[in-house]
Amino acid sequence: MRYTILTLFPGLIRPWLSESLLKKAQERGLIQVEVVDLRAYGLGRHRTVDDTPYGGGAGMVIRPDVAVAALEAVLPADEVILLSPAGEPFTQRVAEELAQRDHLVLLSGRYEGFDARVEAFVTRSLSIGDYVLMGGEVAALAVLEATARLIPGVIGDPESHRRDSFVRGLLDHPHYTRPPEFRGLRVPEVLLSGNHPEVDRWRRQEALRKTLSVRPELVREARLGPLEVAWLAEMDREG
Ligand code: SAM
Repeated sequence: MRYTILTLFPGLIRPWLSESLLKKAQERGLIQVEVVDLRAYGLGRHRTVDDTPYGGGAGMVIRPDVAVAALEAVLPADEVILLSPAGEPFTQRVAEELAQRDHLVLLSGRYEGFDARVEAFVTRSLSIGDYVLMGGEVAALAVLEATARLIPGVIGDPESHRRDSFVRGLLDHPHYTRPPEFRGLRVPEVLLSGNHPEVDRWRRQEALRKTLSVRPELVREARLGPLEVAWLAEMDREG
């Protein structure tokens, strides 16, 4: 998979790529990441990229001619993604879809964002949540991280992401490691029992309990098996 990230601050992106799993994935040729400085397409001696908004008001807007020149220089791509708080919510389902592509372009904004005409040159706009960041770099990295870890070979154990939050429609179950007791807090006995069917049952129940308490709307949308439906009725009765 190839990623091209267009940004006014390449220096914010590069250190993120030079550590840990993303570094290894690049070294092993599983992903390729190119970071492009939007300012290289800026106008005039000062490489101007932005201008004041038509209609007045605060803030600066990134010019469409600058953004589209940068975009066109990195095409072709399977998806050209504009990061924007006004975009479609970026979810695990969208990450799974994007992880099937060969080349993603991620366009990150600053200031008030891009001139609206840039939307005619992208395939989709994605928001990483209902809040406003200072720029699109963290959002582009979120899309990169969430999709890259789905590419076979990028993370060690593929079983670990089959159990992740959202993959099955629910949040992940709680995880524990040594020591068995920490400041009076004990690891649940069942996890120390070595009884794998019981451990599996406990994990499924705890994933359901956690989701019900933190994100009940996910439970309503999840495709639950008969056992989960029965546990849910029990949890409802327990209050
Ligand atoms: N005026 C814009 C608005 O209210 O929708 C906010 C612009 S924001 C200060 C600057 C840039 O940060 C945006 O162009 C976008 O690339 C990025 N950004 C901010 N919040 C984001 C979010 N929740 N998801 C994706 N990108 C975001």
